Amino acid sequence: MAKLHRVGIFGGTFDPVHQGHEHLARQAADHGQLDVVIWLPTRAPSHKKQIVASYEDRCAMVETAIATTPHFKLMRLPPTPTSYGIDLWQTVHQHYPHSQYYWLLGWDSFASLPYWYQRQALIPKVTWLVAPRCDPPSPSSSQVFEQLHQQNLKLRWQFLPITPQTLSATAIRQAYQAQRNPQGVSTAVKAYIRDRGLYQP
Ligand code: ATP
Repeated sequence: MAKLHRVGIFGGTFDPVHQGHEHLARQAADHGQLDVVIWLPTRAPSHKKQIVASYEDRCAMVETAIATTPHFKLMRLPPTPTSYGIDLWQTVHQHYPHSQYYWLLGWDSFASLPYWYQRQALIPKVTWLVAPRCDPPSPSSSQVFEQLHQQNLKLRWQFLPITPQTLSATAIRQAYQAQRNPQGVSTAVKAYIRDRGLYQP
């Protein structure tokens, strides 16, 4: 039987994309032996989170960040009002049917899984590759697994063996607002932000 394509799904606001995202994607691709990692900037957050840069700018920043990594690809979502996890999976599934799917995410996103829309449908379709964001993880893993257990949600998941990176897009936007040089943004993405005048006070 032909080997199934191993497809990583990496959703986020990427406002802006930073080296914490790139590190997570590289480590997950190595660890999960992924053939491809699909980056999907979300159009509107499925939770109440303010997005600053436009969808096109966020896509362009991701394209810039992944340009030199052939197995990283950007995929645009259809223009629907929300981007739930199940919508991302469906978009990827249309392009890569009959594959094995791996969902890349940080612990903070994983901890919200017990509240995701249509989680019962999504959870069995993927293996969850989870990156730490701080040590010890917060909320604690026992809290998160207790919530999943209470809902009878069983999942395949792996913790990526990587050192937590404290980078966040929020801190980067705050640095721009304070006219400080942001940490953890690649030179090419910084140039895009400068040329487009994004995140200015
Ligand atoms: P914000 O600060 O605006 O909330 P963010 O830095 O968390 O943004 P997102 O685009 O929301 O970036 O994140 C996309 C995915 O990448 C999420 O699953 C998130 O947990 C993960 N992620 C972001 N930054 C890191 C990091 N430094 N280490 C590990 N995972 C990360």
